[in-house]
Amino acid sequence: MNNKIVYTPGPTSVRENVRLARSNKTTNPDIDKDFFDFYKNTCDKIGNVIKTKNDIYILSGEGILGLEASCASLTEKGDRVLVIDNGIFGKGFGDFVTMYGGEVVFFSKERTKDIEIKELRDFLDKDSDFKYATIIHCDTPTGVLNDLSEICPLLKEYNILTVVDSVAAMAGEEIKVDDWKIDVVLGASQKAISAPAGLTIVSISKDAKKAMKSRKSNIAGFYCNLTIWENYYERKSFPYTMPISDILGLDKAVDNILDEGIEKVLERHEKVANATRKSLKEYGLDLFLRGGYSNTVTAIKIPEDIGALKLSNYMIENYNTLVATSLGEYKETILRIGHMGENARLEKIINILNTIDQSLKQLGFNSNKNLVELFNKFYE
Ligand SMILES: *Cc1c(COP(=O)(O)O)cnc(C)c1O
Repeated sequence: MNNKIVYTPGPTSVRENVRLARSNKTTNPDIDKDFFDFYKNTCDKIGNVIKTKNDIYILSGEGILGLEASCASLTEKGDRVLVIDNGIFGKGFGDFVTMYGGEVVFFSKERTKDIEIKELRDFLDKDSDFKYATIIHCDTPTGVLNDLSEICPLLKEYNILTVVDSVAAMAGEEIKVDDWKIDVVLGASQKAISAPAGLTIVSISKDAKKAMKSRKSNIAGFYCNLTIWENYYERKSFPYTMPISDILGLDKAVDNILDEGIEKVLERHEKVANATRKSLKEYGLDLFLRGGYSNTVTAIKIPEDIGALKLSNYMIENYNTLVATSLGEYKETILRIGHMGENARLEKIINILNTIDQSLKQLGFNSNKNLVELFNKFYE
């Protein structure tokens, strides 16, 4: 199980120094004051990655916890919530809103490109009575990337709080939380950050905190209540025992990013993603998207006579290589490669493209071109 080549859009590969950090001796994270400093320091470092001075918390639970917790903490019965949907995760946000009594209004657009700011503006001119809006930064099943630098400030103009799922983009795509006025940003350990799965990252603005605290009704539940974290550092008290080994690993993964430099990390993603897209097209495959390409994941249409499931099974059986198909309606047709985090590296992408090239040809795909050669041609 542990010797596979993993090239999925998260969980992604974890560097050895992160794995080793998780094996360090631990203290009691409930009462050791040094751990509060350590935890706070990790949060501050994440703030440097996503460019914010807002409060950041690391929650014990995989990325979905952040999506549910923001909806649980913000939504009161009858609140109108705008769910911006141009992908499977985008639409799915509506389920969490409904679960906590909110009234969902979808802004649904085609899934093959990013949200157009003008269309959103026209929509808001007619109806902007929303407590908050949800949007996905990179919607992973199709890889579409939305331009938060335009969308979030626009929503703020209309006094709408923003909840952004950046789970599949954080540390692989630029995000400037403060400049772009994003109220709640969600991330997770196992995507571009390249630590093992198990942790959610949440950043919360003052406006979002105010909205959570000025509710008329109580927040349902405890685990999903984000207000229980407030002033944890001053109080030296966490709401529950922190998974210290996971956090030691996350801290090291964040150090890896900051040691390389976030700008350099983003540039590495861009170079790899660009050349991947160009080479796949010239090789004779179609990309799923027409615009809004993310640099963390590429969705490729696999010819029907082969099919994405058959190809991915073939790759695991013959090359010990794990890639992902897609979700829902795209499961049979789309293959996804996750060139994110530790996998956004030249030696790794070349290996995976070679495996795709060989597998496709062995399954009858007709191309006289070589995917790796094409990649090298476009990589600059
Ligand atoms: C991975 C991911 C999550 C977390 O969901 P899981 O399916 O549990 O991994 C949330 N949002 C996005 C956009 C993701 O890519």
